[in-house]
Amino acid sequence: MILLLFGPPGCGKGTQAVFLAERFHIPAISTGEMFRAECQAGTELGQLASSIMAKGGLVGDEIVDAMVASRISRPDCAGGFLLDGYPRTVPQAVAFSAVLQQKGLPNPVVIHLNVPDDLLVARLTARRQCPQCKRIYNLLSQPPKVAGQCDDDGAALMAREDDREAVIRQRLRAYHELTGPILAWYGSSAVRSVDGGMAPDQVARAIALVVEEAAKAGAR
Ligand SMILES: [Zn+2]
Repeated sequence: MILLLFGPPGCGKGTQAVFLAERFHIPAISTGEMFRAECQAGTELGQLASSIMAKGGLVGDEIVDAMVASRISRPDCAGGFLLDGYPRTVPQAVAFSAVLQQKGLPNPVVIHLNVPDDLLVARLTARRQCPQCKRIYNLLSQPPKVAGQCDDDGAALMAREDDREAVIRQRLRAYHELTGPILAWYGSSAVRSVDGGMAPDQVARAIALVVEEAAKAGAR
């Protein structure tokens, strides 16, 4: 079972990755964690990546592709795995497909969490943070007991710079520009869209259903 999870910033993708990993007993691999692990372990790839990043450069597709190929060869991936944040470009998708073929692995189940931009903007602009203890609130889903005040220390809550509408719209545009071509490359018949606008437990159930259906179809 090979799962690829795509979704816009603020859609709760990280939470869903954890749910899926537990439910299907597979590791959830994010590229950020993979990078940190390789760099910490001081592998050749890790050293190469850290020296590029130290010079302020961007780590190219070849290194990222090689890291993923190496990571999914580890024993914990024998029963499958979930990738979150990869492939990030069409060339990465092409390279990943070649790796799966080389290893005799099945095609991935591509899950796309679909959430309207306006809903994400509404959710994210409702975030507030306590400047003292850094606790995060959401005026829609997790409001403080007293409006505008932190429950723990009474400090005045603030909106973060990252949560301004213009910043969020810009991040969403960048996401669509990056992800649209990848989903198009996999093709509409391969991409399974899930309504990511529901409550997290409902989204988790919907994804699990889609994955089980895909597994059955693959076994046939
Ligand atoms: Zn506080």
